[in-house]
Amino acid sequence: MAVRVGINGYGTIGKRIADAVAKMPDMELVGVAKVSPDYGAIIAKSKGYRLYTLSDRLGVFRDKGIEVDGTIEDLLSSVDVIIDTTPGGYGIKYKELYRKYGIKMIFQGGEKPEVADVSFNTLCNYRDAIGKESVRVVSCNTTGLLRLICTLNHYYPVERVRAVIVRRAADPKEVKRGPVNAIVPNPVNIPSHHGVDVRTVLPWLDIVTSAVAVPTTLMHVHIVNILFKEEISPDRVVEALEHNERIALIDSKSTGIKSTAEIIEVARDLGRYRYDVPELIVWRDSLYVNGRELMLIQAVHQESIVVPENIDAIRALMAITDDPMKSFKLTNKILGISGELISFLKS
Ligand code: NAD
Repeated sequence: MAVRVGINGYGTIGKRIADAVAKMPDMELVGVAKVSPDYGAIIAKSKGYRLYTLSDRLGVFRDKGIEVDGTIEDLLSSVDVIIDTTPGGYGIKYKELYRKYGIKMIFQGGEKPEVADVSFNTLCNYRDAIGKESVRVVSCNTTGLLRLICTLNHYYPVERVRAVIVRRAADPKEVKRGPVNAIVPNPVNIPSHHGVDVRTVLPWLDIVTSAVAVPTTLMHVHIVNILFKEEISPDRVVEALEHNERIALIDSKSTGIKSTAEIIEVARDLGRYRYDVPELIVWRDSLYVNGRELMLIQAVHQESIVVPENIDAIRALMAITDDPMKSFKLTNKILGISGELISFLKS
């Protein structure tokens, strides 16, 4: 029996997770809930997705001539799992309503950790989420950091992480956000919340992050410094990163991919839907190894990196499999994630 999934909030993250759920062989997308009768609603309908809204918004959709399949309560009464992708801070307000239907809940990184039983990343703590009532899939930056840290920790125990996060100012569709012409310490205080958020999944880790926001919409970039408990070898670090299908190692010299702009250009040229790059991109030639220390530069496509983790979170909550790698592999296969941004340019 396919797991019945609903999505509340059909924006940047919600629409991508909806498409991913619709593709999964063990899941059924029951529908999506939206509050605004805008282009997003029309596109959702054109994809054949059932559309739901709040009861006091039914008239607004009707006035715009957009047919709605029911209220959010109708959606909640026909799903096993609801994925909340409303703007940060709204999920907690919906939680009591979701609870009334006795369904599982997945929240996003814009919510406080207390919203859910577990903060989640597939490779770090899938098993902690099995059978729980709710999980919170951590934000894009935290997901990027955790993918890297847990991949490497499997090969060499990690002692300490320090990272500088260069944040994109806004998503491409966000017309009202800045900065337009500044580099903004964001936040000014150190540590930034990103490292604190990593510790919601890895409480034992000594991690400090700082962040600045820059005027770009394409991707985030992280400069990461990891100290391990033992000496590391560059070859084994490469082996670890290559082994993870959700990490794509890219050599800037042989590929000409020297910036986030070129990563996105490759995704566009390949015809990737919405130019999404759910893989964590690590520049191979940024790797610096010295004894127990590693430094590297990585890039995170904020709009899509959390999509595979949301799919795995469904399997964990529903206890479809207790093997994280089974879910990891199936999600990757269906979403076409192979560890290569572009095969003939593989480093
Ligand atoms: P978004 O603004 O693009 O989408 C939110 C959607 O929810 C919109 O369609 C909006 O109309 C709808 N909405 C607003 N109020 C609602 C309500 N009361 N009920 C139902 N729907 C409502 O936001 P997003 O970027 O997709 O972010 C969603 C969550 O994902 C946040 O927690 C965010 O922190 C997290 N997240 C965002 C990114 C990113 O880079 N955009 C990355 C990772 C995680």
